[in-house]
Amino acid sequence: MTAYMDHKDLANEVIDEVRAQQIADGVHRVMDRIAAAEERAGRPAGDVRLLAATKTRDVGEIMAAIDAGVPMIGENRPQEVVAKIDGLRYQCKQRGYVIGAYDFDLTVDADPTYAEPEDLKEAPFIPFHLIGQLQSNKISKILPTVNTVESVDSLELAEKIARRCMVRGRSMGVLLEVNESGEESKSGCAPDQALELAEQIAALGGVELQGLMTVGAHVRDERRIREGFAHLRGLRERIQSLGMPGTARCVELSMGMSGDLEYAIAEGATIVRVGSAIFGERDFK
Ligand SMILES: *Cc1c(COP(=O)(O)O)cnc(C)c1O
Repeated sequence: MTAYMDHKDLANEVIDEVRAQQIADGVHRVMDRIAAAEERAGRPAGDVRLLAATKTRDVGEIMAAIDAGVPMIGENRPQEVVAKIDGLRYQCKQRGYVIGAYDFDLTVDADPTYAEPEDLKEAPFIPFHLIGQLQSNKISKILPTVNTVESVDSLELAEKIARRCMVRGRSMGVLLEVNESGEESKSGCAPDQALELAEQIAALGGVELQGLMTVGAHVRDERRIREGFAHLRGLRERIQSLGMPGTARCVELSMGMSGDLEYAIAEGATIVRVGSAIFGERDFK
């Protein structure tokens, strides 16, 4: 288990008002940045969805972000998903929301002191994404919670997720992660393999290819960062125009983080994944 998990209780549900206000301010600042970038790019307001990258944050911190209007959550590690999901479910249910997957049993831990959404389909839904590497022995852990795995970078992983999902009679959203910067520290498939991989993944039952994901180049040069984002958009456009089977819903471009979300939005991002600009610097990596 990762060391920081021994130092911080990720299941903690209660934070003080000062911290909650910091997080709400962070969410609002990021939403303002997104709106300004949409406008500069001539894109409709609300075109880009904000995913809060919540690694190392506890349930109380994540709920403060949700209360401030964050519509989507992304975790990096399966262990963190497992540590937080019960608390998140409980807190969301009290607010009349549903978080993560959909094939869980709402009657479990039913508590008469809070209202259950009248109808699961009517309750506001907060999708749960996995944005970090997934080892195949952890797939079953995340199935009940995760709606979309953004970090699929091989056919083998997609096939394993697909098989597990078929057994459960559900489908998992996947994004193909592409290493656009070519930096060795980064995961993701090589850009020149992406088209073929997308075709193979899209053809699988049990997963739905919903788009592409990348992490921007770790450089200061705006042009280089934007080149990677633009290339990812080009890939999505190729996939769409080729019309390969199973690619009809391959629409998402998950790119842009705290430091480069403006560039990503200018290049067509549909999802930005933001951590430190909402929650502050991480105490643990
Ligand atoms: C942590 C993380 C983010 C958010 O990074 P910040 O710079 O804190 O906004 C986005 N995507 C991935 C894959 C991450 O691991």
